[in-house]
Amino acid sequence: MTTQLSIFWFRQDLRISDNPGLLAAVQRGAVLPVYILNESTPQVFQLGGASRWWLHHSLTQLNQDLEGKLNFYVGDPQCLILDLIKTHDISAVFWNRCYEPWQIKQDEELKKQLKKSNIECNSFNGSLLREPWETLKPDGSPYKVFTPFYRKGFLTGLAPRKPCVMPKKINLMTDEKNKMTLSGFNLLSTKKWQHKFAQYWVVGEGEAQKKLTEFLKGGLQDYKEGRDYPSKKHTSRLSPYLHFGEISPHQIWHAVHENTYRSIHEKDREHFLSEIGWREFSYYLLYHFPTLPTDNFQPKFGRFPWTDHSEFLEAWQRGQTGYPIVDAGMRELWQTGYMHNRVRMIVASFLVKNLLQHWHKGRDWFWDCLLDADLANNSASWQWVAGSGADAAPYFRMFNPVTQGEKFDGDGDYTRRFVPELSQLPDEYLFRPWEAPPMLLMAAGIVLGETYPMPIVSLGESRRIALEAYEGIKHKE
Ligand SMILES: Cc1cc2nc3c(=O)[nH]c(=O)nc-3n(C[C@H](O)[C@H](O)[C@H](O)COP(=O)(O)OP(=O)(O)OC[C@H]3O[C@@H](n4cnc5c(N)ncnc54)[C@H](O)[C@@H]3O)c2cc1C
Repeated sequence: MTTQLSIFWFRQDLRISDNPGLLAAVQRGAVLPVYILNESTPQVFQLGGASRWWLHHSLTQLNQDLEGKLNFYVGDPQCLILDLIKTHDISAVFWNRCYEPWQIKQDEELKKQLKKSNIECNSFNGSLLREPWETLKPDGSPYKVFTPFYRKGFLTGLAPRKPCVMPKKINLMTDEKNKMTLSGFNLLSTKKWQHKFAQYWVVGEGEAQKKLTEFLKGGLQDYKEGRDYPSKKHTSRLSPYLHFGEISPHQIWHAVHENTYRSIHEKDREHFLSEIGWREFSYYLLYHFPTLPTDNFQPKFGRFPWTDHSEFLEAWQRGQTGYPIVDAGMRELWQTGYMHNRVRMIVASFLVKNLLQHWHKGRDWFWDCLLDADLANNSASWQWVAGSGADAAPYFRMFNPVTQGEKFDGDGDYTRRFVPELSQLPDEYLFRPWEAPPMLLMAAGIVLGETYPMPIVSLGESRRIALEAYEGIKHKE
C-alpha cells in the first residue's frame, strides 16, 4: 500500500504539541518536515542578531525532537516547495498561518500555484487565539482601541479552542538529495555578544512548558501589581517562546483556566490573560493596518520634528545616558536579550520624547537585540509609546526616569545589578546621582562624568521642547 506524503512547513510554530497544521499532516500519512530560511524579507525586518541566535537553538531542539529528520533549505519558499513537489511524490502541503504582510502575500501566491498544480493545500491557525478578521465592530470595521477590542470583541466571542493532541507517532521522511544543514544557515555569529545569551536562556518547546508551569505556580499570584517591578519574578518571560511558537497562546490560555490554578486571585489570572490579549491586539492591528511597522498610525506625526543626533542614540543604545533606570534597561537588553516591560516603556519614552529621536531608531535597535523581537508587538508598542499609534499613550504622558526608578525599583536591586558602578550609592540618590553630595559620591567610588555619565539632557528642558513640538502638530491633521 502506498502512503500519502505531505510537506509540513515549519515557520513560527517550532513545536510538536498543539500544532494543528502538523497534526493534520500526520493524520493524512507520511510527513516531510521542512524549515526554509528566507533571507528576502524587507531589509529592516531581516532577522536581528538575537533572533538568529534563538532560531538556531530552537531549530536544533526541534530537529532533535523530530529524530534529526527536519529538512533545512535556504531560499524562496514558493520555488523550493514547488520543486520538492516535482521531485518527490508529494500530494499535499500543510502550514500554520503567519501574519507579517510579506508572509500573507507569499502564502496567497503559493496557494494559487498549488491549486493550479492540483496539490492539496491546508493552512491553520497555530499562533493566535482568534483570527484577526473574526473580531470586528458591529459596523464591520476593525477596532482601533484595546479595551473595546478585548472586552466587547474578543471576550464575547467563542472561547479559544483547546490545545490539540500531540501526534502519537509521526511517519517522518527526509529529502536524501538535500545537502543543506542547520549550520549552513550561519545563524550564529562569531561575536561574543550572541553567545552570552546561553547563560540566561534555555531554548525549546520543553523549556517553554517548564517556564509556564513555574510561572503559574510561583509568579502568577500578585501578577497584577508585581508585573511592574523589574526585580520581581512576576512576569513569565515567555515572549521569545511565543514569538517562535515553541508554546502556543492556546496552551497558555487553557493552562491558566486549569483547576490547579483556581486558587490564584482572579484579578491576577485575568490581568495575565489580558496581556496575551495585547499580543492578539498587536497582531490584529498589523493584519488590518499592514503599514503599522513603518508608518505613523496617526498621520500628523509625519510632521513631528524628530532630530537626528547620533551621539544621543549611541548613549541610549550603550546604556550611558546618565539616567540609571534607562541605562539599567538598555544594559539588560544588551546582556540578556530581554528587557522588562515597565523598563521598555521607560527607555522608549526617553528616546522618543526626551531625546526626540524617531521611534524607528528604537524599533530597529530592539529588533536587533531582543530575543523576542516580533513585528506585531514591537511595532505596536513603539507606536504606543511614541504617541503615534492606534491606541497610544497620550503624547504629554512622559515617563520620568527618576520617579519611575524610585517607584518601580525602590530598593534599587534591578538598577544596581545592571549599573554596578552605582551600586554603593544609597537608594535616596540612586536614580539622581547628580544631586548626591560630593562626599557621598566619593565614598561610593563615583566620579560623575568619568565612572558614570552626567545626564545627557535635562529632563525639564527636554520635556518642554517635546511638548512644544507636539503642540505644533496637534491640531492640523
Ligand atoms: C517599546 C516596546 C517594544 C516591545 N517589543 C516587543 C517585541 O518585540 N516582542 C514582544 O513579544 N513584546 C514586545 N513588547 C511588549 C512587552 O514588553 C513584552 O511582550 C513583555 O515584556 C515580555 O515579557 P513576558 O513574557 O515576561 O511578559 P508577561 O507579562 O509574562 O506577558 C505574557 C505575554 O503577553 C504578551 N505581552 C505582554 N505585554 C505585552 C504588550 N505590552 N504588548 C504585546 N504583548 C504583550 C507577550 O507575548 C508576553 O510574553 C514591547 C514593549 C515595548 C514598550
